[in-house]
Amino acid sequence: MDAFCYRDGELYAEDVPLAQIAASVGTPCYVYARSQLIAAYRTFEAALAGQEALVCYAVKANANLAILATFAALGAGFDIVSAGELERVVAAGGDPRRVVFSGVGKTGAEIERALAHDILCFNVESPAELDRLDAIAARMDKVARVSLRVNPDVDAGTHPYIATGLKENKFGIALAAARDLYRQAARYPHLQFMGVDCHIGSQLTELRPFADALDRVLPLVAELRAQGVPIRHVDVGGGLGIRYREERPPTVEAYVGQVREQLVAHGLADLALLFEPGRALVAAAGVLLTRVEYVKSTDTKHFAVIDAGMNDLIRPALYGAYQVIQTVRARADTPGLDYDVVGPVCESADVFGRSRHLRLQAGDLLVIRDAGAYGFAMASQYNARPRPAEVLVEGNRFAVVRTRETLADLWRGESLPGWEAPL
Ligand SMILES: *Cc1c(COP(=O)(O)O)cnc(C)c1O
Repeated sequence: MDAFCYRDGELYAEDVPLAQIAASVGTPCYVYARSQLIAAYRTFEAALAGQEALVCYAVKANANLAILATFAALGAGFDIVSAGELERVVAAGGDPRRVVFSGVGKTGAEIERALAHDILCFNVESPAELDRLDAIAARMDKVARVSLRVNPDVDAGTHPYIATGLKENKFGIALAAARDLYRQAARYPHLQFMGVDCHIGSQLTELRPFADALDRVLPLVAELRAQGVPIRHVDVGGGLGIRYREERPPTVEAYVGQVREQLVAHGLADLALLFEPGRALVAAAGVLLTRVEYVKSTDTKHFAVIDAGMNDLIRPALYGAYQVIQTVRARADTPGLDYDVVGPVCESADVFGRSRHLRLQAGDLLVIRDAGAYGFAMASQYNARPRPAEVLVEGNRFAVVRTRETLADLWRGESLPGWEAPL
């Protein structure tokens, strides 16, 4: 489904004109379509019918409480990478016993919080983390449920910044080392080894790397079970890509279907499945709504200078990522030109799109599509720019789910040292 459609030449979010949101909330702002979030989650659910499974939304893609509450209401689990994300899940009404905790750098304090909340499983990324987890669980008189995150050494075929499954990456434990650790389970009296985990990267657009990774992980599961280690689930991570431009990522049905077939092929059909999708659940359900401040032409180029910057949405600047840009109201009275759509930030990387054919004038509204994942979540206040508002739409109504930061928010918590002397 696409919740962002034109009606009589005007772009809507579900049944709300985006121009109405801009008039009420101002720009730039993120706009999310609730129906599309729900549809994306239900696609996973439907593909998993008849299979013991939990879809753990990867909070880091978009951690707004209203987004988390939407998934919590659907019965989702959550994949977290910090204590902050755990507390967000709890604040949004999510069930901590459906939380899995990933990441190479879990601090002692974060592990304590997670144990206190009795989370479902720790995805452990090193032997040192196992020692720390066992010690803290012992001190708290608890048993921590554990999966080892295996690094299967496969090339995800994605941008190098978001590939995580190669042996030179910092993530996970090599297969052979993981096998040895599982066999030494008795050394860790306060750990219960219940799963095997694997996450090889983000924005994957082919099935092959997923399949290759699982073909390395599942024999380990079968072997461990044969040796009496009661592995109950395999966590296949996240990473399913979306179509930003011309990519043809596998459908959720094809992806989940492939995983299920592989379980059967390895004689592990009774294994529970955990998925950790982030982008695939939220990216297409969000846009960044922005206004053209100036149109500027030089000898060689036309620029549309917008009121959103790379601090608000960094994907194009950071990864050279392509995102579709559309006008909110189609203009018939202005000839189309090829614009570089740029922000106000003092960096030449502050470009949202190059040579985009648009009919626009200063003052017009634009949307940058597919901004629901790694959009606001990666926003900063660089250039002393308050972070934008976030809006959730449902049918014909909308709500501000995060207010625009104020100028005073920019220096909240800052102070002068108090020892200034006249110079
Ligand atoms: C980032 C991440 C995800 C989500 O990745 P997407 O590409 O957004 O699906 C899932 N699991 C782990 C461990 C991650 O680091």
